[in-house]
Amino acid sequence: MKLKDYSLFINGEWKRGEQFYDLKSPYSGEVIARIPLANKKDVIHALDSAKKASRQMRKLSALERSKILERVSEKFEERLEECAYTLAMENAKPINAARGEIQRTIETYKFAAEEAKKITGETIPMDAAQSGKGRFGFTKKEPLGVIAAITPFNFPFNLVAHKLGPAFATGNTVVLKPASQTPLSAIMTAEIFEEAGLPKGALNVLFGKGGDIGDLLVTNPNVKMITFTGSVEVGLQIKEKAGLKKTTLELGSNSAVIVNDVNNIEAVARRCAEGAFAYSGQTCISVQRIYVHHTLYDDFLEAFIQETKRVKVGDPMKEDTVVSSLIHPKEAKRIENWLQEVDSKNIVQGGEREGSIIEPTVITNVNPDMAVSCQEAFAPIVSVNKYKDWEEAIKLVNDSQYGLQAGVYTNSIDKAFAAVHEIEVGGVIVNDIPSFRVDQMPYGGVKNSGTGREGIKYSMEEMCELKLGVFNLL
Ligand code: NAP
Repeated sequence: MKLKDYSLFINGEWKRGEQFYDLKSPYSGEVIARIPLANKKDVIHALDSAKKASRQMRKLSALERSKILERVSEKFEERLEECAYTLAMENAKPINAARGEIQRTIETYKFAAEEAKKITGETIPMDAAQSGKGRFGFTKKEPLGVIAAITPFNFPFNLVAHKLGPAFATGNTVVLKPASQTPLSAIMTAEIFEEAGLPKGALNVLFGKGGDIGDLLVTNPNVKMITFTGSVEVGLQIKEKAGLKKTTLELGSNSAVIVNDVNNIEAVARRCAEGAFAYSGQTCISVQRIYVHHTLYDDFLEAFIQETKRVKVGDPMKEDTVVSSLIHPKEAKRIENWLQEVDSKNIVQGGEREGSIIEPTVITNVNPDMAVSCQEAFAPIVSVNKYKDWEEAIKLVNDSQYGLQAGVYTNSIDKAFAAVHEIEVGGVIVNDIPSFRVDQMPYGGVKNSGTGREGIKYSMEEMCELKLGVFNLL
């Protein structure tokens, strides 16, 4: 079978590349497409096109921007199955989870279409100051211009939507560099925007190694903001190179959940297993650390192991698969090495690697300094530990370089509020797992989990410049 050679998307046109790389399915290892590598000239062309198009984007009315995004949302709905299939092929997301991601993508663009119509400023009480008498002041929000969006492999439709949706809702233009493993989803996204009538040059899509293209984007003076989702290591490098450009960094985590007191321990164990193993643990808010009150520990662990045994492992195209190949064989080998650090009697379920697949794994009695606990696993492994009292639980959760989201199960309203106040994260989810997210809520982390917030309305704040107008009322 002849493989399709794909193209770059620059200035509203599909441009043939000069050099290509083979895109392989993480599950089968087969080459599924040939993807063009952008060279320096392509990057400059894309940035110039985005700059030129920003004049046109600024002139679109709120309603025109909203209608484009509305059409994008509808077109994703029409192509849902095709998009889900693409995901399962390019990043081994099990087909059911892949459909879930596309459902969210449809909603994310819909939220962007709605928010595009709500951009407002405020009037300023100028005469509250001695010298402000007779002045009228107001603010308005203006687009920044060109935004560089750099995205990870794990939610390549919806996390791209979290950048393109708010960027276009606010009248900006974008040069997108998706993860090298997930170019096909970006190509489909560009096709959909093209059909939806986005002005030429407002979206440009480039492929190539992060280190090469990323640097060219991050350091280019025409880029006014970098919106990045990915690992801490790359996020820190970007921050250092970005200078005075605005940056939003959505980074990793080793999310924790406290099980303090619950009515139905089996239901909580089931939900925690969903959070730990969905998409092979490759979400930034996967449940990685579970802390259980000592009185519930034995019952919880037993129920959790039973749930873990039920998790289906294998082909991402099968309807009931939950855990499949990790994105790259080297990631599976990394986890295998981490597990070698753990005393084998504490690996109470799973622990084996087969090719790029890691068995759903449960570890107990974990020392907080071990990689499986203190670093981001991004794999289907989870530790279950017991604690004596509330203070200890909070301390254990906060003992992390990360702070994205945390979950707390409790029947006590006091403890629920205490958790929201005391846990050092961007979001605390009471009576659910940290993996809960809907796309309009503010989302982002503290500590090494990043800076800035996504969730359409909140990203839009970051993607605008606040402009002040002052009238001297003569
Ligand atoms: P990654 O390795 O950091 O890559 C992310 C993106 O950065 C890719 O497009 C990558 O390109 C690019 N990149 C690599 N080196 C670069 C450089 N020097 N300059 C500019 N760009 C560069 O992350 P990943 O493995 O794709 O994704 C997993 C990570 O994302 C995890 O840490 C996860 O927690 C995090 N994440 C966070 C959130 C959140 O909202 N907080 C959501 C999802 C994922 P290449 O693919 O070509 O290397």
